[in-house]
Amino acid sequence: MSSRTALVLTLSLLTVALLIVVALATPWQPLPLHGIAAVAADPSRDFTAAQIARENAYHAAVRPPAYASLGLGLLVALALGLTPWGARVVSAVASPFGGGWGWRVVLGTIALTAIGRLVALPFDARAEVVLRRYGLSTQSWGSWATDVVKSYSLGLIITLLMVLGVVALARRSPQWWWSGGAVLAAVLVIVVSFAYPVVVEPVFNKFTPLPQGQLRTSLLSMAARDGVPAHDVLVADASRRTTSLNAYVSGFGATRRIVVYDTLLEDGTPGEVRLIVAHELGHAKARDVVWGTFVGALGVAAAVCLLALLMRWPWLLRRAGVVGPGDARATALLLALVAVIGFVSGPAQSLISRRIEARADVHSLNLTSDPTTFVSVQRRLATTNLSDLDPSPLVFGMFSTHPTAPQRIAMARTWARLHHVPVPPSTVGASQGR
Ligand SMILES: [Zn+2]
Repeated sequence: MSSRTALVLTLSLLTVALLIVVALATPWQPLPLHGIAAVAADPSRDFTAAQIARENAYHAAVRPPAYASLGLGLLVALALGLTPWGARVVSAVASPFGGGWGWRVVLGTIALTAIGRLVALPFDARAEVVLRRYGLSTQSWGSWATDVVKSYSLGLIITLLMVLGVVALARRSPQWWWSGGAVLAAVLVIVVSFAYPVVVEPVFNKFTPLPQGQLRTSLLSMAARDGVPAHDVLVADASRRTTSLNAYVSGFGATRRIVVYDTLLEDGTPGEVRLIVAHELGHAKARDVVWGTFVGALGVAAAVCLLALLMRWPWLLRRAGVVGPGDARATALLLALVAVIGFVSGPAQSLISRRIEARADVHSLNLTSDPTTFVSVQRRLATTNLSDLDPSPLVFGMFSTHPTAPQRIAMARTWARLHHVPVPPSTVGASQGR
């Protein structure tokens, strides 16, 4: 079999496997309706006209710089990757070091990604100004800049591993590099996913145990009752940078722990904290991280095969002025293709994420039987985080990883109908009686 036939076959098999796993493992219908009518989402039932107006004004201000940053990042990657400019940058930065392929890949990747970040940086700063104006960011510029450097560096490490891997493998085996590459990339996804809570979380936050008391005891006993025992409840010092409210459960078995943002402890009632933790326990119980990692590993293996196929396309190679993936000057082309593949797969990832989040919401209701607190949590989250209550279908499809607050609230009302408990009333006077 030629390497090309094997490549096309492997890519097809991985794609089919990915589609089957996603189709079977995604909770497409998290709340079975058993014939009753679902409550429709309606922002005006639980949010005042002023809250809706404020959220709309915030998004109108933050979207242009946020999209400009995203679009420019992509555009710069394409401009460098699909013209000989990227190859020239790679050669230029490595020439003082003799221009060996290793230097070309390492310095070339640093230079190319830094150009992309620098071009987008003014728009990121502009978005940060909007976040502050709306009280969503509590960071100083110094701490913002530190975060920019930290997240750029983390991304750079992953990108360097990937590009170095591709070029090194392609130099050893120009025809078959993708087979080892796909396996290594899948392993990398698994390692990063399991190392994330241990290595990456501490880079951005400090954690202290929640002191002994009623809340700590009730969270740990709820986790034990749910069959996902945790050994500790930690508080993250998120208030250093944000007013956002959040919690999550990380680790497995003996290392499993509940992490609560200090902002949530400050603002939320104990009942609301319990409800948010119940949602997170839903993720732990359904093993969403394990499944997500598995799907991610399959996806990235398929992406490597797609990348290998594209790197054989003479038109692309001619545009970039390179001979193939073993050519270190192809670094810019590799980065451009990875950026495009990531961008194009975004909506599918968001769609799956929304279904998984809805399942965790159902779990939190099953565990607490408290749709009224669920509604108050969603109202608090949405008003504090200034969530988009009624996004356009395009924005929702491309970027929304969670259902909207009105959709989540409507689901809680449907849950209440199904379980014959009082349906949480409308919380906005003006629309009562609907
Ligand atoms: Zn969630």
